[in-house]
Amino acid sequence: MIDVVIAGAGPNGLMLACELALAGARPLVLERLPEPVDEQRANGLVGQVIPMLDRRGLYERLTEPGAVPEPSPAFVFGAFPLDLHDLPANSLHTLLMPQRFIEAMLADRAAELGVEVRRGHEVIGLTQDERSVRIGIRDREPVEAAFLVGADGGHSAVRKLAGIGFPGVTTDDSVSYTGHVSVDPELIDADGGLTVPGFGVVPPFQHLRTERGLFTWAPFPDDDPKISTVEWGRPAEGEASFEELRAGARRVLGADVPVAPPTGTGPRLLRRLFGGNTRIAERYRAGRVFLLGDAAHVHSAIGGPGLNMGLQDAVNLGWKLAAAVRGQAPEGLLDTYESERAPVARRVAMHTQAQSLLTRPGADVTALRELFGELLAEPATRQHLADLLSGADIRYDMGPATGPLVGRWAPDVPGLRELTRTARPLLLDPTGALDAGPWAARVDTVTVPELDTALLLRPDCYVAWQGTTDEGLHAALGAWFGTA
Ligand SMILES: Cc1cc2nc3c(=O)[nH]c(=O)nc-3n(C[C@H](O)[C@H](O)[C@H](O)COP(=O)(O)OP(=O)(O)OC[C@H]3O[C@@H](n4cnc5c(N)ncnc54)[C@H](O)[C@@H]3O)c2cc1C
Repeated sequence: MIDVVIAGAGPNGLMLACELALAGARPLVLERLPEPVDEQRANGLVGQVIPMLDRRGLYERLTEPGAVPEPSPAFVFGAFPLDLHDLPANSLHTLLMPQRFIEAMLADRAAELGVEVRRGHEVIGLTQDERSVRIGIRDREPVEAAFLVGADGGHSAVRKLAGIGFPGVTTDDSVSYTGHVSVDPELIDADGGLTVPGFGVVPPFQHLRTERGLFTWAPFPDDDPKISTVEWGRPAEGEASFEELRAGARRVLGADVPVAPPTGTGPRLLRRLFGGNTRIAERYRAGRVFLLGDAAHVHSAIGGPGLNMGLQDAVNLGWKLAAAVRGQAPEGLLDTYESERAPVARRVAMHTQAQSLLTRPGADVTALRELFGELLAEPATRQHLADLLSGADIRYDMGPATGPLVGRWAPDVPGLRELTRTARPLLLDPTGALDAGPWAARVDTVTVPELDTALLLRPDCYVAWQGTTDEGLHAALGAWFGTA
């Protein structure tokens, strides 16, 4: 029997496959599409996912050998520029990178780890009992697995087949256009701003709000620039076209935007979207079936939080499922996937809805923005938003373990980014005196004199325990990594 079938070879399904393989389980990925597609989606990564990828050795694969992620000095929130350079603990990382490159990197990594991906395999049915899940595949023989994970996107067949509801809201009063463009280089200033005659300079990578809508100018370093618009209350108008994109930009800015159709090679984007969805699965688990990434939650793409959440869902679920496959999962471990990750989805839904509201036109929103702008002058407000957007404010419930670091993302200590690449539990001990006892084979112990107290890290790099005694350590090891 297969250990874990993953429906969907999107970024989140591939990340889960890598995590399972690292933890010694055998995943099989079933992907509906016969080939990867060049659909343009994420423009990059935002948040804690970047240090997370770094702790798996994957950040430098997206950038360059030896590269170490640095926090970003600036970002955006609800069409406000978010200045982060003066924060004492700036937690927000960003990486401009088309989603297809991230997927290609994860596919290569999965192949290296021996993961099998079967393309042209669409999951269309499931039945389960207390032992296994039987997975129906269109025009093919079914397969049987210990677990099934639906990483099959917002329209998830697995979610529907498992009978899991997807409550939330759908808005239908906006239309947005996004498209590649070409621009006379003379109109782009040294900071990347675009001069729009009759309007002024539009700064790069900001959401610019006017009383008529939202405009974004995105000059990518290795690609043609993109522009996008959002307008409210506009009915659909014929076929999406470059002219319609340009006309939308003209309406929002009240001036002709000097853009022409794109000239470069590669996939060219011209997309029109109506409205949007904010929905969270009512459960992340139904017996032996789990939901991951967009299958579990959808929300506005504002600020790009999707992959930050989905890839970390995968890192949260991977080691837990692998422990269950090995028969080492303590009672209740698999349920902590939902109890830990669903609140994160609710926070993301909250801030993307709040940001979308702040971008709307109208005198009441303008008043709200005036107040919000005053609050943003406070470093504490910007720190709060940086932690919210990055996910640095996440704190999981680690049961009886206490201490300021417990439940939090493990702080950087010397050598950690290398030690975490194997995705094994880690005991960081300042003295070398602690003894993992019968759990010694399940946890890697490293002496880190720079620490004040010992830290036990789960494979997802969250601190499960902080302390000084073998007794406390053994209780935490038993709680998270099973009976010795
Ligand atoms: C316009 C736009 C811009 C975005 N910008 C950003 C951004 O800047 N930053 C960011 O982090 N996120 C962004 N996102 C969100 C991000 O693209 C998604 O969160 C991400 O793709 C979700 O990954 P996933 O693996 O969960 O699902 P998907 O990427 O949807 O992958 C699901 C896979 O499952 C396959 N599949 C579907 N049904 C089946 C089936 N029955 N059987 C087998 N396989 C199946 C599909 O073919 C697909 O390959 C954006 C999204 C959009 C639409």
